[in-house]
Amino acid sequence: MPNLRTKSVRIPTLIFEKSQSGRIGVNLPQADTPKVNVNEAIGNTRETFHFPEVSELEVMRHFVNLSHINYGIETGFYPLGSCTMKYNPRINETTASFTGFRNIHPMQPDYTVPGALEVLASVYDILKEVTGFDEIAMQPVAGAHGEMTCLMLIKAYHDSRGEGDKRRIVLVPDSAHGTNPASAARCGYDVKTIPTGPDGDCDMEALAAALDDTVAAFMVTNPSTLALFERNISKICQMVHAVGGQVFCDGANMNAMVGTTRPGDHGFDCMHLNLHKTFSTPHGGGGPGCGAIGLQKHLEPFTPSPALIRVNGKATLDHNRPQSIGRVSSFYGQFLMAVRALTYLLAYGKERMSDISRYSVLNANYVRARLKEVLPPAHDRPCMHECVLTAKKYKQNGVRALDISKRLIDYGFHPPTNYFPLIVPECLMIEPTETESKQTLDDFCDALIKICHEAETNPDILHEAPSTQVVGRLDEAKAVKNLDVRWHPSTITESV
Ligand SMILES: *Cc1c(COP(=O)(O)O)cnc(C)c1O
Repeated sequence: MPNLRTKSVRIPTLIFEKSQSGRIGVNLPQADTPKVNVNEAIGNTRETFHFPEVSELEVMRHFVNLSHINYGIETGFYPLGSCTMKYNPRINETTASFTGFRNIHPMQPDYTVPGALEVLASVYDILKEVTGFDEIAMQPVAGAHGEMTCLMLIKAYHDSRGEGDKRRIVLVPDSAHGTNPASAARCGYDVKTIPTGPDGDCDMEALAAALDDTVAAFMVTNPSTLALFERNISKICQMVHAVGGQVFCDGANMNAMVGTTRPGDHGFDCMHLNLHKTFSTPHGGGGPGCGAIGLQKHLEPFTPSPALIRVNGKATLDHNRPQSIGRVSSFYGQFLMAVRALTYLLAYGKERMSDISRYSVLNANYVRARLKEVLPPAHDRPCMHECVLTAKKYKQNGVRALDISKRLIDYGFHPPTNYFPLIVPECLMIEPTETESKQTLDDFCDALIKICHEAETNPDILHEAPSTQVVGRLDEAKAVKNLDVRWHPSTITESV
């Protein structure tokens, strides 16, 4: 059973507050150059820069203690919907740290790195098979970057057919991730929203009404952000193609399909993948990620340059791409992400690949079924790899989805995604992933059921949550508008 965390966390002191004049943490070797008086050269360092003066042990304790109040996939369950926070197997890190991979320089001539090119080409080969696309490219360094690259390919394709000026509109469902309209707008397109029908599928009549020869593309997330498989997907692709448009698949939810079904077979022209979601490479704080893209043959001439191709089976970089959109990142994207993803793909192997999607869908449906009474699903049909629930019935007690999420922190769990997709009121989006056990899912569901009971009997507890952390509720608007995470000398209590 879930228990409230009772151990209170000590508020960590700043490293500046540990500072004692004259204390040092390093032994510098004897200088073999003439001595320079630093204070004379750049001013009194102590007064000007206020560097903390601490011993090595104090520095070590400071950062280790900070790491203990961090929360990550390695400390607990992380059901953040749409993010696929699955376990990143250690073996991925082992291979990514091989010196042969780690120490190569991106400016080495191609012929000195055949092994690295083979790694990239092997990932391409497997991803082609997994997605059903003709080609893969791995320069984009994030999912959103992959989306934008796909739209650049689509634009180049329409331009090459003399239709670039006419096709100005990109259609995006109202359930889409914010990066979709942003990518379209960034490529100079006008964005038009397509509503979702009451059953959670795309509103086919609204789509038909929006389709004409001004449409450049439709961006579809499948499974959708409502965690539902878009049942009309092949029909949708046919309808868009019939007016000369292209269909892009937002592949952030690929975890529900790996080894089971292939977007390339559904009729899509291109898609992006998040290697840092589906293929177990780490989610960086803003990077490094990898937004690999898959594309069909007709988009291949425009793919980012240099393109990785096989000539007589040998992986080679092709720099001669006259129709290419050019580079979308320096060098070849995040190479070590390719090493990690390849390790993961080979560790699973072709036979077990479908375990990823089958267990992630099973886990999400288990959570959905266990929570049905307290947090009903937004749509009453089986979900894919995550479940989208609504907490709207607690609104009458003054409890919002955010309060439930904050209370989960007191029970030791990372909250799910809140208020996304935007079209679901008081939305909680839970993605357990395939790497969690039934025991963990049960503990999490038990905690949520308890919290929903509290929402009815003692809503104030939820409003005050979290109460077991270093900080409680933040004024989020103020944090965005007046963010100040710097230490200022005036904030110090004792003079240094
Ligand atoms: C995560 C996500 C993206 C963007 O991916 P990043 O790697 O964060 O840029 C796009 N669409 C959906 C549905 C997502 O969940």
